[in-house]
Amino acid sequence: MLQQTTTEAVIPYYKRFIEKFPTIQKLANANLEDVYKMWEGLGYYRRAKHIHETAQIIMDKYQGIFPSDYQDILSLKGIGPYTAGAISSIAFHQETPAIDGNVLRIIARQYLIKDNIALSKTQKKVTEIVQDLLIGYDASSFNQGLMDLGATICRPLHPQCEKCPIHESCQAYINHQEQVLPINIKNIKHKELNYITGIITYQDQFLLIKNNQGLLENLYGFIQYELESPYSFIEEFMNEYHHSLSIISYIQDIKHVFTHRTWHMHVYHFTINKPLENMYTLHDIEQLPLSTAHLKVLKAYLKETNLNH
Ligand code: SF4
Repeated sequence: MLQQTTTEAVIPYYKRFIEKFPTIQKLANANLEDVYKMWEGLGYYRRAKHIHETAQIIMDKYQGIFPSDYQDILSLKGIGPYTAGAISSIAFHQETPAIDGNVLRIIARQYLIKDNIALSKTQKKVTEIVQDLLIGYDASSFNQGLMDLGATICRPLHPQCEKCPIHESCQAYINHQEQVLPINIKNIKHKELNYITGIITYQDQFLLIKNNQGLLENLYGFIQYELESPYSFIEEFMNEYHHSLSIISYIQDIKHVFTHRTWHMHVYHFTINKPLENMYTLHDIEQLPLSTAHLKVLKAYLKETNLNH
C-alpha cells in the first residue's frame, strides 16, 4: 500500500484491509472484487491484484508462510528489488540493500556520483556500493537509517547538511554540490487524453462497465470515448451497443492525473429508453469497486443533480 502513497493516507486503508483479511489464507481465498473494494480510493489498483495473487502463490508454493529468501520474495507478484530488499533485510535480517529514491540520492551525494540516477546502470552502481557498505552490519538498521536520513535531512531540495550525521564523509557537501546532485532526469512521456464521459441512466439506474484490461483493469466505470463532442458520443454508443441515447445536460469537466497520463473527462448526462444488463442503482454501486476517477464523476453528478446519497 505504501508504494506511491503516503503513510497518512494508507493507515485507514491498512486497518480496514487487515480486519477484512487477517491472514494470508483469507486473502488468498477472497474474491478479487472484494479485494478491489477494500482498495477503492487508494489508486494504483494493480497493487490490489498483485497482493491477492501473491497470497495465492504463498498458499500454493510456500504452505502459507511468507518466504524469507530474497530471490523467493523477488519472485512474488508486485515486489521489485526495493521491496524485496526492504522485506528481506528488515523482516529477515539478511544483508540485502533496499535501494529507493532516498538511497539513490544519499549515495549519489556521498560519492559525488554525477551520472543520471534515473538510469538503471547508475542504480546498479549504487546497489553495488550499498552491498559493500552492508557487509558486517545490521542491514535492517542500515537500510532504515538511510530511508530516514533521506526523508528527514538529506531531502531532495535544501538538504540540512549541518545536521547530517555523515556530512564529514559527504563528497557533495565537501565540494558544494549538495544542491546540484543527484542528477535525476526521467524520460517519461506524459499523455494528455480528452474524453467524453457519459453518465447514462435509466430511472434510478446507472450504466457501468467493468474494465477487462488496461490501467483500471477489474474496476467499474462509466463509459467514455476519446472524442470531443457529446453528439459523437451518442453515435459511438449506438455503434457499440445498438441503443439510442438522449442528451440531458452537461455536468462538469473533471481532471484525473495518473503517473504517466492525465484524463480530462468532459462529463455529460444521457438517458437510455430501456435498461441494459449492466445497470446499477446507487445502492448496488456501493458494493462495486469503482475507479477513483469515476468516483469523482459520480460525486460531481450527484452534487449537480442534488441527489442525496
Ligand atoms: S551532508 Fe548533506 S548532502 Fe551529504 S548526505 Fe548529509 S544531508 Fe545529504
